[in-house]
Amino acid sequence: MSIRLRFAFCYGTLFALILPLMTVLSYAIHARGQYDDIDRMLIVRTEHAASEVTSTSRPHLLQREKGFEIALHLYSSTGVLQDQTLGTAPLPSVDPRAILHTPTRPAFDPIVGLFPPLMGSPPVIPDATSAFSLINTSEQRWRVYVLPFHTAQGAGYLEAVTPLGRLDASIQAFRMILPLLGLTSLFLALLGSWAIAGNALRPITRMIQTAQTITLSRDLSRRIEMPAHHDELGRLAATFNELLASVEAAHRTQQRLVADASHELRAPLTAILGNIELLHHQQNMPAGDREEALAELEREATRLSRLVADLLMLARADAGIGLKRRPIDVDLLVLDAFHEARHLAQGQTLRLGPFEPAHIEGDEDRLKQLLLILLDNALKYTPAGGEVVLGLRPQEERVDILVRDTGVGIAPEALPHVFERFYRADPARSRDPGGTGLGLPIAQWIVEQHQGTIRLESQPGQGTLVTVRLPLG
Ligand code: ADP
Repeated sequence: MSIRLRFAFCYGTLFALILPLMTVLSYAIHARGQYDDIDRMLIVRTEHAASEVTSTSRPHLLQREKGFEIALHLYSSTGVLQDQTLGTAPLPSVDPRAILHTPTRPAFDPIVGLFPPLMGSPPVIPDATSAFSLINTSEQRWRVYVLPFHTAQGAGYLEAVTPLGRLDASIQAFRMILPLLGLTSLFLALLGSWAIAGNALRPITRMIQTAQTITLSRDLSRRIEMPAHHDELGRLAATFNELLASVEAAHRTQQRLVADASHELRAPLTAILGNIELLHHQQNMPAGDREEALAELEREATRLSRLVADLLMLARADAGIGLKRRPIDVDLLVLDAFHEARHLAQGQTLRLGPFEPAHIEGDEDRLKQLLLILLDNALKYTPAGGEVVLGLRPQEERVDILVRDTGVGIAPEALPHVFERFYRADPARSRDPGGTGLGLPIAQWIVEQHQGTIRLESQPGQGTLVTVRLPLG
């Protein structure tokens, strides 16, 4: 079921549940008000007549009250009609004593009877001995109110009667019209909710179409048209576009990486194949040339294996391999790396700078790999006679590892790119054909995995300072 249909259905169901309740309630309020008015008038009129009967010897009952169809009857205590309002016959003749035996006040309507008076107060019956009744004749219903009275001349009953025909007809019409109105409103509400849902969901439909087009065309440069309003759907479209942008960027990076990796792998492979061919076809080549070819073969194979190892390392990093953390003595680790790097030096001086013991939680193997990458770079890009200094400086909540060299340095325009995969500054390329351009990205990943930072400061021709900052503990 589509969201649109579900929305219209839910709205319609809710409306269909609320509507009958509201209909019955509004009917009850309306009818109850009307009928209560009748009772109120009957009480007032009867009381008025009763006061006349008790204060004067000849009551003026018989003046018909204009505007209200209320007739009054005066009965003796034995139930004999003694007087009545003029011109009101034929009225149902009811013995007031029979009415007074009716214990409860009959409700006008079963529905109305279910509700307490919803607006205003109910008519107050002044005398506990008085009573209301409802009388049905073939033409209509009548409301009757009987009030017993006592005078010096004797006791009797005053009875007020009013026809309910017109009011009943109007309430009946109201009762007929309410379901019709309800059904019409329900139909209109369903229609309206269908239209509103369609309108509200239109941007989503457009998003789905764009997403489908992108899937089919594989064109990640496409974007979703932004809805006119910056509401939730606007934000959804914006987020979707941001997602597309990041997927596009990731896709581009991936493509570039594959291209770069193939390119970097091809160079040593070409050299290896060339040398193998040479050795194969020139069986009688001079020993010196042969040695040179074999040396190059070894160099290129080593480079190839390093490249593959670095690529594997980064692939694992991308896949989210974790670290094996444990408490380590960074000073011992730095010393270890320092001794290992001394074999890489080719005429450069490698020495220890400021050095203090420090302990952190980390992955020993990865941190050693990081130190060797930095020392290897420092030595690679420092000519013979230059100096490389390795230092360790614990601070309050961190430890700084410093690798300073007096080498070729990095041009300011190249500096922001050195952590990009396969990036190699031009002088580096010409100085060290064995480099892969993957050392610093790996170093950065290791540092980030330790919640640390790595910073390069460099002056072309003067040297480079690499600062790795790791949190203690
Ligand atoms: P590479 O295998 O080329 O050394 P890296 O990712 O380790 O790859 O370094 C990227 C580039 O950053 C290098 O090619 C080089 O241009 C530059 N670089 C890194 N360290 C130094 C340094 N100590 N001195 C000068 N340039 C450096």
